[in-house]
Amino acid sequence: MNQAMLAKQFWRISHNPQSLLAKTFKAKYFPHCSIHECVPKPHHSWFWRNLIKHDNPKLREGRWWIGNGRDIPLKHSDWFNCPSHNLQNPNLITGKVADLINHNFDKILWKHSATGQYDVRTAYKILHKDEVSKFPFQDNPYHIQTEVWQIIWKVRTPHKVNLFVWKLMQDCLLTFLALKNRGICHHSTCPFCNEEEESTSHLFLHCTFTRACWHGSTLAIHTSDINNISVQAWLKNIILRLRQLDQERMEYLSSIFTFLWTIWKHRNMVTHDGKTPNPTEVILTAQSLICRFKEAFETKINHDRPNKGIQPNHQNIGGCWDLIIKIAGARKARPKRTSFAYEASNLQGRTMFSGCASSGASTITAATQEALVVSAVKAKSLGFCKILMMC
Ligand SMILES: [Zn+2]
Repeated sequence: MNQAMLAKQFWRISHNPQSLLAKTFKAKYFPHCSIHECVPKPHHSWFWRNLIKHDNPKLREGRWWIGNGRDIPLKHSDWFNCPSHNLQNPNLITGKVADLINHNFDKILWKHSATGQYDVRTAYKILHKDEVSKFPFQDNPYHIQTEVWQIIWKVRTPHKVNLFVWKLMQDCLLTFLALKNRGICHHSTCPFCNEEEESTSHLFLHCTFTRACWHGSTLAIHTSDINNISVQAWLKNIILRLRQLDQERMEYLSSIFTFLWTIWKHRNMVTHDGKTPNPTEVILTAQSLICRFKEAFETKINHDRPNKGIQPNHQNIGGCWDLIIKIAGARKARPKRTSFAYEASNLQGRTMFSGCASSGASTITAATQEALVVSAVKAKSLGFCKILMMC
């Protein structure tokens, strides 16, 4: 689509030579020729080079619309191919089509539309057709069935997560490799492992960090067994396998979408905020989000259909623990005060208890330990045995 929109600007300049935009670009980049003859040069701006290069030549193919004929030589290859001695006629003064006809002006029309006007929709269809034939079936997002796109939007996660997965399937996430390919960034090393290029397949499947995350998750996915397959093809296969969206499959797909999204958010924090990569944090954050999203959608369904008597399904997605307790300690220099806080949630993301208190500890670590003991005792008294602490 981006190529099609850029080509639109190309044709706008071609068809409106008196516009300020066309005059400016002509003075700067092609003062002695037409835009159709302009060749991108290294010192031209990045925008201009992209505007005129056209990876697909069909977007700039034109046909002459005859006006006064002053710009078209009679010997032009696209003009009527007559014997050369016929061109010796004394009435043919300039040797241009203008000798034969008389109109107002000449201009090049776009070849692929009936009107000659450039049309983004037609250009998009041309690009789509070419893309389909260019890449191997497996790696080409254009080969992904319509059904897959439809299922992506049906999965019960917030729209930002569905949109993220849609972008991932289009392979248009701005990884370092994508930025490097666009000439925006000079390196493409993965921020997690610093070993390989950060493609989407590496980031979400093959990176050692991501493998650790998947391995530690409750989704029973071992990406170390997956080789020579793109993340798009891998996800497409999962979606098609779970296309019968009953509740169990829907939850599984939601969990995978949320997990992928959490990896991406963590990657952004590592890249932009200087955070240290932490697989445990990815696992716990994803688990917490999965529970929250599930509860939010169940609440919405019950709210939308109050008479159907649908009860929330408190199925234990995690299976390994009953309670997640987040603890934190804090210390203030003036006046010298230390305190701690804790909040415990069950697997459905519901807060079971929380609390905060002043502490006699002299360091944040000691205050955090105090929070750990207090919250653990409280959890035990409420009957929880499998507890995860997060600080
Ligand atoms: Zn990596």
